[in-house]
Amino acid sequence: MHFFNRKFIVGPHFFVLTKRRCAVYCLFMVLVGILTGTLIMISSYADNFNKGDTLSVIVDAGHGLPDGGAVGVTGSIEQEINLKIALKLQEVLEAKGVRVIMTRTDENGLWDDKDDSIRKKKVSDMNKRLEIMKKSDAHLFISIHMNSFPNHSASGLRIFYAPNHEEIKPLAENIQTRIQDITGANINIVKSADKSLFLMKNPPIPAILVECGFLSNAKEEKKLQEDDYQARLAWAIADALEKYYVLP
Ligand SMILES: [Zn+2]
Repeated sequence: MHFFNRKFIVGPHFFVLTKRRCAVYCLFMVLVGILTGTLIMISSYADNFNKGDTLSVIVDAGHGLPDGGAVGVTGSIEQEINLKIALKLQEVLEAKGVRVIMTRTDENGLWDDKDDSIRKKKVSDMNKRLEIMKKSDAHLFISIHMNSFPNHSASGLRIFYAPNHEEIKPLAENIQTRIQDITGANINIVKSADKSLFLMKNPPIPAILVECGFLSNAKEEKKLQEDDYQARLAWAIADALEKYYVLP
């Protein structure tokens, strides 16, 4: 402001200088603005991802035989639908240049032949998924599940993020918004995962779990079995990731 006051005090010569200084000042402010905007964008990324990196994502299809997960009202099996959506998500993400690591690509869980009981297989399975997270250099673990509840009217999506990676909450919210936009699903809850979810308790990398809907709700079960609905869910999740990580 003082630049403008000075022109009246010191005359026309200084008025020219003042205009130049004003231009320098304005340019400086524009640069500060650009820098601030850039910093805000960078700070919105997950801590472990730098712009220019190849985004690396673990896509986890929940369950796997002998653990089928939830069973729908007409007999659909959760692990099958999880896998179909996970494979679709892999395809869309890879098309966007993302490096995808799948925890499983067939109907079987991740266990060893020596695991001679369902319980042992289940423990092995969880530990192996955790091991994949630990050994990978992935930026994100995203797990696909279906829900089930004794009250058959329960419906909608639930999105959880690992409480030890609070920085990923905005991505969970992005996924919520995109799924809402693309599928029209009306109940979406984003919350920090509770400790009963083994892989979400204390994961070594940011982790998000998407419960895509209730297989105990006949209407939702029907939708979740549709190829087109599964594709839209996968597309919505991939789109949220693309925007969040500002992929080229
Ligand atoms: Zn599940």
